[in-house]
Amino acid sequence: MIKAVTGTRDTLPTDIPKWNFLESIVESVFSKFNYKEIRTPVFEDTNLFARGIGESTDIVGKEMYTFVDRSGESITLRPEMTAGVVRALIEHSLDKKQNLNKLYYMGPMFRQERPQAGRYRQFHQFGAEALGSNDPLLDAEMIIMAYDIFARLGLKNLLVKINSLGVPSSRENYKKILRDYLQPYFEKLTSESKKRFDTNILRLFDSKEENDRKIMEDAPLLIDYLDDESLRHFEKVKEALLASRIPFEVDAKLVRGLDYYTHTTFEVVSGSVGSQSALCGGGRYNLLVKELGGPDIPGIGFAAGMERILLACENENSFSVKEENLDLYLVAIGKGLENFIYSNAVNFRREGLSVDLDYLGRSVKAQMREANRTNSRYVLLIGGEEFDRGEVVLKNMGTGEQKIFTKDDFEKILLTVKEN
Ligand code: ATP
Ligand code: MG
Repeated sequence: MIKAVTGTRDTLPTDIPKWNFLESIVESVFSKFNYKEIRTPVFEDTNLFARGIGESTDIVGKEMYTFVDRSGESITLRPEMTAGVVRALIEHSLDKKQNLNKLYYMGPMFRQERPQAGRYRQFHQFGAEALGSNDPLLDAEMIIMAYDIFARLGLKNLLVKINSLGVPSSRENYKKILRDYLQPYFEKLTSESKKRFDTNILRLFDSKEENDRKIMEDAPLLIDYLDDESLRHFEKVKEALLASRIPFEVDAKLVRGLDYYTHTTFEVVSGSVGSQSALCGGGRYNLLVKELGGPDIPGIGFAAGMERILLACENENSFSVKEENLDLYLVAIGKGLENFIYSNAVNFRREGLSVDLDYLGRSVKAQMREANRTNSRYVLLIGGEEFDRGEVVLKNMGTGEQKIFTKDDFEKILLTVKEN
């Protein structure tokens, strides 16, 4: 038997309502903040990600689904959306049409990671990017939107962590200080951290290795070496979060490791999903658009993992979705009524009712069971003596009440079902 590829998952009909609910909240919150949806291709030129995410990151280093297509081009399934959104902005000169572009997206992403709870190879993210302004209020806006979405989902066990990575000039100076601090411990570092020591030294704060963590415990912190402008920017972000009643914590060890990140970085972590606890992450990237060949405009964004969010919701039992129901189930009593029933079903559907009928030649009892299983609000009983008299019986499944109609009273039946 052929099975779904490792790390990919089917979303079965029974799971769809909660996905729909999540998607509707995402759309609703983003549109209240005036973000417009953008959709970009699922695959892109590999160079876009190599340049846009950075060669020294885990994503580019070991997680991308990259292949050469039949025309010899190197293609990569998108591992995240920021690069694609920025490419689209540049390609369509969106920045020339309006100075600030506030965009959001939702869709599948692909990374070849070790599958585990909350970590898949095809997973889904929603996220937002605001391109064209360095206003710290936008940094705060990203965090507020993420938080509001989580709150609307009923999630409680949340921690918002924020930090500032400042600007490259003060960061370069700090990197030297960090390097000096780490030099004596170099031989004790894990091989991964040794590599990062040269390529992306800030990422050593991300190490999960106990020994690395001990060494990093007393390391000098970037936040203590920030320039005045960066500090002012960070203060304004914090003020806006306080004013919007977002509980947060400054985590001076939160680094997101990309060289183009500037100023704010943040993460929202859930206490309800075990070790894969980050629900979303984001930050300001004032150098990225230019790095990708576009104009010198600043940007900020975040991305959130939808599977992880739904896992947290399940574990906290944070919301329940209404059971799906049908308006009307047409029950056939006896044979020979197929044409009448079928054309009525089609007409009721065209008038806006959700309607189903039996396609399996089942007994009346089995059809009634099916009406119950599909949570039908009404059943229309067609056939038997009543039908011989030119009548059909409409049963309200909630109250048990039955009403008789003449069999051609389509409008009246429609009205009754629609009214309740
Ligand atoms: P992690 O540290 O968990 O690997 P990350 O830093 O790689 O996360 P981002 O690239 O910032 O994650 O992506 C944003 C969000 O997307 C994450 O916070 C997480 O919720 C989700 N996410 C990332 N990778 C996966 C994955 N393989 N499966 C499911 N969700 C994921
Ligand atoms: Mg990752």
